[in-house]
Amino acid sequence: MKKHNFYAGPSILSEFTKEETAKAVMDFAGTGLSVMEVSHRSAEFQAVVDETIALVKELLEVPDGYSVMLLQGGASTQFYLAPLNLMKKKAAYLNTGSWASKAIKEAKLVGEVVEVASSKDKNFNYIPKGYKVPDDVDYLHITTNNTIYGTEIKTDPDVNVPLVADMSSDIFSRPIDISKYDLIYAGAQKNLAPAGLTLAIVRDDALGKTGRELPTMLNYQTHVDKGSMFNTPPCLAIYAALQTLKWYKQKGGIAAMHKINNEKAKLLYDELDRNKMFKAVVPDPEDRSIMNICFVMEEAYADKDADFLALAKEKGLVGIKGHRSVGGFRASTYNALPIESVQALVDAMKEFESKY
Ligand SMILES: *Cc1c(COP(=O)(O)O)cnc(C)c1O
Repeated sequence: MKKHNFYAGPSILSEFTKEETAKAVMDFAGTGLSVMEVSHRSAEFQAVVDETIALVKELLEVPDGYSVMLLQGGASTQFYLAPLNLMKKKAAYLNTGSWASKAIKEAKLVGEVVEVASSKDKNFNYIPKGYKVPDDVDYLHITTNNTIYGTEIKTDPDVNVPLVADMSSDIFSRPIDISKYDLIYAGAQKNLAPAGLTLAIVRDDALGKTGRELPTMLNYQTHVDKGSMFNTPPCLAIYAALQTLKWYKQKGGIAAMHKINNEKAKLLYDELDRNKMFKAVVPDPEDRSIMNICFVMEEAYADKDADFLALAKEKGLVGIKGHRSVGGFRASTYNALPIESVQALVDAMKEFESKY
């Protein structure tokens, strides 16, 4: 049976990414060796790194003066590295969920944190607005897409200080104005590659200003200077990332991805607003994520969760159980998820409604 993969991360990759990576696992670039067993210093692999960085720059329209880094340790390591490299004394954070809270916790190990606003009062089901950012902070940190709660900051905010963003679960889903950011980071396992790779984009002149002496591996400047080849990079994950980037380009780039992502999200949110048994967790359409769509049963059907999960299983709909801190269901609709999969979910919801 065809499987529809709604997992939140690791998550669906394009068929192209999987097929091309599988080929290179057996024979990489005509070397007769696996991409997992050639030197990262070989000319063939250096070409992969160069092309990956060039394609990230091309697809996201990264301006001059920025560097792309291919790192390890996940977004969770960036929670600490971002303040370590960019915070002199004080930084502002917007608290929009558990990933943001974890970023705040790590930043407090480095310096003073001003929490400018939080949506904790409503279990993070909205994006706070109208908050003030003090002028004397080094940056404002935002989590553009809140994977667990299904909220998203869908336009790059205008603020009085540079932005730092965790874009783990929505990078490549929409065009970004990189020039507003000093740093963007993202674990690759949501919209790019298998786990093990972390993408970061940094404004070069934001570095080296803290006066802090940093361990070599924790210093962004090391990775900028060495083109992400200071030490052995995650070669297989980088190879897969390159295939995904090529696929994005073939499909018309990030604007084309954005268009189809909006169509997929509309299909599902429209059904959630129409269907009498289900409702979206995030009330304000402006704050609704187009990558992670959280929903629950209406109160009258609160005991039917397990029944719907059973129907979903029957239909090959995988990974729609909600995160434990929200409950209900979550459909992750990352770039690689075809609209047919969203239609299959909508059809299952209609069928479920007609049963009761
Ligand atoms: C998944 C996720 C993380 C954690 O990423 P790791 O690579 O597992 O450390 C952080 N932030 C957001 C927004 C995420 O979706």
